[in-house]
Amino acid sequence: MINQRVDLTLDSREFEKIYNRKKIVSMYTLGCKVNQYETDAMIELFKDRGYEIGEFDEFSDVYVINTCTVTAMSDKKSRQMIRRAKKINPESVMAVVGCYSQKSPDEIISIDGVNLVMGTSDRNKIVSEVEKLTGIEKVVEVIDIMKQREFEDLSLSNLKGKTRAFLKIQEGCDRFCSYCIIPYTRGPVRSRKLEDIIKEVKELSEKGFSEIVLTGIHVASYGKDLNEKNSLLDVITEIGKIENVKRIRTSSVEPLIITKEFLEGIFKVEQFCPHFHLSLQSGCDETLKRMNRRYDTKMYKSAVDMIRNIYPDAAITTDVIVGFPSETEDEFNETLRFLKEINLYDAHIFKYSPREGTKAALMKDQVSPQEKNERSEALINLGKENKRAFEKRFLGEEVEVLFESHSKEGYEGHTKNYIKVWVKSEEDVQGKILKVKLTESTDEFVIGELSNINS
Ligand code: SF4
Repeated sequence: MINQRVDLTLDSREFEKIYNRKKIVSMYTLGCKVNQYETDAMIELFKDRGYEIGEFDEFSDVYVINTCTVTAMSDKKSRQMIRRAKKINPESVMAVVGCYSQKSPDEIISIDGVNLVMGTSDRNKIVSEVEKLTGIEKVVEVIDIMKQREFEDLSLSNLKGKTRAFLKIQEGCDRFCSYCIIPYTRGPVRSRKLEDIIKEVKELSEKGFSEIVLTGIHVASYGKDLNEKNSLLDVITEIGKIENVKRIRTSSVEPLIITKEFLEGIFKVEQFCPHFHLSLQSGCDETLKRMNRRYDTKMYKSAVDMIRNIYPDAAITTDVIVGFPSETEDEFNETLRFLKEINLYDAHIFKYSPREGTKAALMKDQVSPQEKNERSEALINLGKENKRAFEKRFLGEEVEVLFESHSKEGYEGHTKNYIKVWVKSEEDVQGKILKVKLTESTDEFVIGELSNINS
């Protein structure tokens, strides 16, 4: 390929005639599942305009970097990817979108080679914005996200070849946890209309997706901005009525959504998977207050108990931040004790890092890196023990596994309660739900043996 700026304003047929190939776009995604969903949706928009989707490490006419800004490291990584793409084709058009560009558009547009900066809205205009760029101009299209009131519809109707679809049902967050920059980059809560969600799930199920994962920035807030007053429970219930949807999951939810009514409601939906990612962040009430989390350990524990009452085999996973400003040794030990007491399946441990623009970044008594490392290690070790113990409970049992990918002369998938399982199989079982007898728990997954084909 010749490294020269091509004329993207040409429509795809004219372009192919002149250049003897299609326009190529490649994307790189940093951060969370919501970003991944939005990248997938942008890929569809480019495909619809006749683009070929390239590999990020190879030649492209257009590079789109979907950035994250949740930590300073995410910003750094985003900048690295911009530079990497520019090296591959210095004449490419470079568009940077997402949370980092929403927060710091001026910083990003000043990076050599960046042509277009868009934030966390108007991604459905990405193709036309890119095609307006004819030369080496620099354009910033970032609006004040705090004034956004509508959910931006970006759908995934053409996605193929996978078993699990992440479906964005909600945008924004108004919780303002003291350490988190997200409410400033994603704006207020906006929920997708229930009828639009149902339409997209029907399309996804017709394309063979058997598992739907409901995602958003703060999924538990779903519906609070809607006139119809639909709730997350309504979304799950309605999706449960759609033919061929075999599994429904939610991404992270906060403990406050776990009520008797919510649990009894989802229990009626057979496809709902009993895996609850309940963000804890700290097991110390004083630290939770400083974090501006709106629950305490008593409320968290009650949510865990209610879940186990209804779903005794539920997998409950969590996130914990260690080394939050002023976290003393005693406070950390409270977290350790609490985690031992509630005995969750898995915990993602994060070392606190100050995020400019948040309240916590201005707090005194930042914890030293060494203490953060020690605390993190202690929780990681506890997590490993808990994970193994939970998985061992199911050894010898026959469970249903939805196989998602091929790996190491076998296939990998998950049980309904999110245990990762691997089986040896010569037969292609990808996309199928099969009965598996679990035999051995390893660090990577639980090994199983296929029983009979279920679907
Ligand atoms: S709930 Fe808290 S941590 Fe989660 S996105 Fe909102 S502000 Fe950030």
